[in-house]
Amino acid sequence: MAEMGLMEKIVSLAKRRGFVYPGSEIYGGLAGTYDYGPHGVALKNNIKNLWWKTFVEARDDMYGVDAAILMNPKVWEASGHVAGFSDPLVECSNCKSRFRADHLADPDTCPSCGKKGTLGEARQFNMMFKTHAGAAENESAAVYLRPETAGGIFVNFKNVVDSFHPKLPFGIAQIGKAFRNEIAPRDFIFRLRELEQMEVEYFVKPAEWEGAFEDWRGRMHAFAKDIGINSVHELEVGDGDRAHYSKRTIDFEFDYPFGRKELWGLAYRTDFDLSAHERASGASLQYLDEETKEKFTPHVIEPSLGVDRTLLAVLASAYAEDELGGESRAYLKLSPKIAPVKAMVSPLLKNKPELVEKARDVREELRKIHPAIAWDDNGNIGKRYRRQDEIGTPFCITIDFDTLGEHPELLGTVTLRHRDTGAQERLTVSEVRQKIEEAL
Ligand code: ATP
Repeated sequence: MAEMGLMEKIVSLAKRRGFVYPGSEIYGGLAGTYDYGPHGVALKNNIKNLWWKTFVEARDDMYGVDAAILMNPKVWEASGHVAGFSDPLVECSNCKSRFRADHLADPDTCPSCGKKGTLGEARQFNMMFKTHAGAAENESAAVYLRPETAGGIFVNFKNVVDSFHPKLPFGIAQIGKAFRNEIAPRDFIFRLRELEQMEVEYFVKPAEWEGAFEDWRGRMHAFAKDIGINSVHELEVGDGDRAHYSKRTIDFEFDYPFGRKELWGLAYRTDFDLSAHERASGASLQYLDEETKEKFTPHVIEPSLGVDRTLLAVLASAYAEDELGGESRAYLKLSPKIAPVKAMVSPLLKNKPELVEKARDVREELRKIHPAIAWDDNGNIGKRYRRQDEIGTPFCITIDFDTLGEHPELLGTVTLRHRDTGAQERLTVSEVRQKIEEAL
């Protein structure tokens, strides 16, 4: 399978089967934006819910927040984003196209018109989207759309400490949209202008940062495995390349069809943010250790995961092609935990009321485990299976005349078909229920 071929196949499947559509498509789109369709939003929610369950609900040391996207602009001055959240921009004097200077293959040649020596000096371009709050459109009313969810966590540090009195180490987690005016959005949902992040700020005693860093490093690999992302590579980010707030960063990279690129980041942000917000806001953001009566500013470990890049890595890891029953097929080997549809129930024939009625009963029974159990009685059974394969449904259940007792020894049994192998087995409904329950 040619490398670019794979990306085109994923983009095409994503559109055709209702995972991801270009944003504002009927108006010709809007660069850097995509819309999630019915299966896409289900997959995305399943990924986010699993992350939330794993890193917030299942732990006693984690607190969730959902902060506003619009924040007081002083937040972004204090965090260094107003001064420093920028990429180097160059413009071609011939065709006026703009590029990120650090992404150019040849710094002397314009990638758009091909002219040599037309690219000007690089200047820093701030990536925050600016808008106005209220009716006055002057500078004092300027606000930014947040460029990362972390800001909303730091400004709520004091609130969470005051409400819950957590003992260190503890973390605050948030899932939400972030906005970056990327110079050149590209590669489908990899580099977007409107994106979503799942972030944790994990607060530790300064001397304990290394242990927490290692712990989160392991947990991020485990989460990748859990959602079926294969082969994540680590890149230790060098001194000159780290963000302004970081003392150590590991990029978690994935082999996307367009190359090895950053999937997630893990950063040691020291006390940079809490100290900066304390200085700028005047609020005390120190932590009082009740046992030692010592007051200090906690340090922070930040695992930062982009939802869209995660979903793309999930699709790229899951996409598979093979031959089944003499026909070629494309399917998604999604983990049942995150598959948009968990199982499909089908009567062998849709014009036999007794089959349809039994199939409906079976579907209702399975829906007690999970509501995402689909129904399909359209076309022949092989086609129904292929449609589910393409969206990654792990199980298909077919109700036939044997279910109704045509061969008395098979009464009450159904066919359970497995997505990856196409293998089928004859089981009772309660056995099927148990299998699905175990997989989710
Ligand atoms: P890059 O170097 O690729 O621009 P970054 O280092 O600026 O990314 P971070 O600031 O560390 O990214 O953001 C944390 C995470 O948010 C990234 O690891 C990625 O998963 C996601 N992310 C960042 N920028 C984008 C974007 N433009 N589109 C989609 N996801 C993004």
